[in-house]
Order: sequence, then C-alpha cells, then structure tokens
Amino acid sequence: MESKVYFLSLRAHDENHSLLKRLKDLTRKLLENRMKEGDLVAIKLHFGEPGNHAYIRPIFVRQVVEVVKEMGGKPFLTDANTLYKGERANAVDHLESAIYNGFGYSSVGAPLIIADGINGEYYKEVEVNLKNFKKVKVAGGIHDADFLFALTHFKGHIATGFGGAIKNVGMGGAPRSGKQMQHAQFKPDPKPEVCIGCARCVNHCPQGALRLVNRKAVLTPELCIGCGECAVVCPTSAIEISWNESAVGLQEKMVEFTYGMVKPKEPKVAFINFVMDVSPDCDCAGWHDANIVPDIGILGSSDIVAIDQASVDLVNQSIGLRETALRDSFNPGEDKFRAIHPEIDWSVQLEYAEKLGLGTRRYVLERM
Ligand code: SF4
Ligand code: SF4
Repeated sequence: MESKVYFLSLRAHDENHSLLKRLKDLTRKLLENRMKEGDLVAIKLHFGEPGNHAYIRPIFVRQVVEVVKEMGGKPFLTDANTLYKGERANAVDHLESAIYNGFGYSSVGAPLIIADGINGEYYKEVEVNLKNFKKVKVAGGIHDADFLFALTHFKGHIATGFGGAIKNVGMGGAPRSGKQMQHAQFKPDPKPEVCIGCARCVNHCPQGALRLVNRKAVLTPELCIGCGECAVVCPTSAIEISWNESAVGLQEKMVEFTYGMVKPKEPKVAFINFVMDVSPDCDCAGWHDANIVPDIGILGSSDIVAIDQASVDLVNQSIGLRETALRDSFNPGEDKFRAIHPEIDWSVQLEYAEKLGLGTRRYVLERM
C-alpha cells in the first residue's frame, strides 16, 4: 500500500497561497486525529552549526508552532547534543548557537529544550531487539514527549548520502553516547602526502585522537570513537575513511535508533521535509556550500520512509546546478547524491527502514 506525501510547491501568486499559510494547512492536516489537547509536542529540528545558513528558517518553524498551539498542543523545539566538538556539544553552547541562528522565543514562539540535557547524559533506553542493537538510547526530552514532530532540512551527507527525516530522528535524536554507538566502526586514516598541517582535525576531534607530528596529522586509534568529523572538516581530503564498508552498518544502526524513537510513539508522529537549500553537506558543517539543485518545496507525511523516498526522488528528478559540488549527473533523473558522495549507497537506509516496518517506499504525492 502507498503512503500519502503532501507537497507544497514554492510557487505563490497571492497572499492566500503564501507558503507560510500553506505550511500551516499542512501542519493541521498532519496533526488532525493524531495530536490530543495537552500533548507535549517535541518539534525535533537542527538549529544549525554557527557559520551555516542553510538550516530551516525560524519563520517556517513558527508556523508549525502556532498550529500546534492553536490545536491545543504544548510545543517545544528540541535537538540533542553533538558528538563532535563544535558549538553544540553541550546544552549551554547548543542553546547559545540556536539563539544566535534566530531560534529565540520571540521569533519561534516556543521554548527550546536540549533533549539529552546539559552534557548529553539524559536519555532513556528503549528495547528494540534488532540486528545491531537490543536496546537503543533515546534523548530524554524526545522520549518523554507525547508527540514527535520532526522538521528536517533535506540535504546531502558525507556518511549516509543524504540526510533526511530518518537521519534527523535516528541520529539527531540520540544522546551523545547513542551517536557514538552508531558511528563505532569508522576509523580515519590521515594521508601525510596530502596533509598541510592546518590542525583543523586536531581541534575538532572530540576525543583528542589526532595530533600533529612534524606538521602532519597522526591518529591514536585506541582513542578514536569513529565520529567521522575530522574527515568533514579537513580542507584537503587528507583524511580518508572507508565509507563504503562502514556506511551500510551506520545506516542500519541509524534506522534502528529511528525505530526506537518512532515505533513507541505511533501514531503520534509527523514529518515535514524542507527540500530547499539542498547542500552537499549537513547543517553540522560550519558553512554552507552552494545548493546542488534549485529549491523544490516542502513535503509532509506521517510516514518517515515515504517522505524521505519522495524527497530524494524529487532531488534526483531535478536538474543539477553547475558551479557546485556536482561534477556530473546534471540531467533530470541522474543521482545527485551518488554524484557528490559516490561511495555511499543512500538506498540502504530506506530499504532497511521499510523492512523493519517503519513505513513504505511507495507513495503518492498530493499537491496542496
Ligand atoms: S579521529 Fe576519530 S574521534 Fe577524532 S574526529 Fe576523527 S573519527 Fe572522530
Ligand atoms: S584537517 Fe586535514 S590537512 Fe588539516 S591537519 Fe588535519 S589531516 Fe591535515
């Protein structure tokens, strides 16, 4: 059976068709018969690393917040702390970053709660009994909420090909130790002939697993937790990680975490994907590289698999933009995410999520 995915195009010709108004209509449709009055609604999103400017605009988030309130819910905006040493690795820095990026109460109309607490230690274990994990760790604030509403900026990702709703929930909703469980098999391999000794990886590594020796990055393998962040920040691609071997395992683990967050809450879940500013990298990067396709629209569904499948299909059906990270696959129908991250088979996350019963890859797009 197919799942319904609602689609808001970016076209608008008068105030009755403004995107903000239609986003509110979409939110009402997704909450109808699912959310009850008084429900605590965790609006899970990514506040963006400072320096990035592709994250979801606060004005969009405000529309969702207003509808949740209008329908009797109690919304709060939330995300869990990061594994890597950036500006969101503890709740204080995380809130400072969120407010810097425009998510203050006066703009979004809802309080901000960092879901895994000050240091990432507030979480609940959920039994899943799946292939990789018997139990997964869910950030406490997400676990304790009555309703999970994930707002996702859909874009590329170095380790999973694309980052959609599954990644926003499964990885983003995990406490720091849960993120580590998912990344455990990554091991970087700095190449001295390409390393320029800039120390970005050293400064970014959460474990102190990298140091410079004679201006070359050197790994202490026993300290490395495999988060992969050193590879993301290296300006010369001197750090290689055998993504193709580990990407399958990472995607499966991420899906198992998603399962532990979504299944216990069903049917009190909803997902909106913003297929706009489709960058090659995730919003954890402290920059935003040029968009690889033109802005496409906003999708909504109660099926986390269908919405990600529809989002990736729309990106791949689009034309690719030149003067971007895309080097080929500019034609409609060619795989844009495979073109920028050739070693990653992004379909793994969708196939595995469907196999676990999280949703279906078959969908119908309904325009609103
Ligand atoms: S060396 Fe290991 S722990 Fe440090 S950033 Fe790289 S992958 Fe993460
Ligand atoms: S970030 Fe890359 S170039 Fe800079 S020190 Fe680390 S490995 Fe070398």
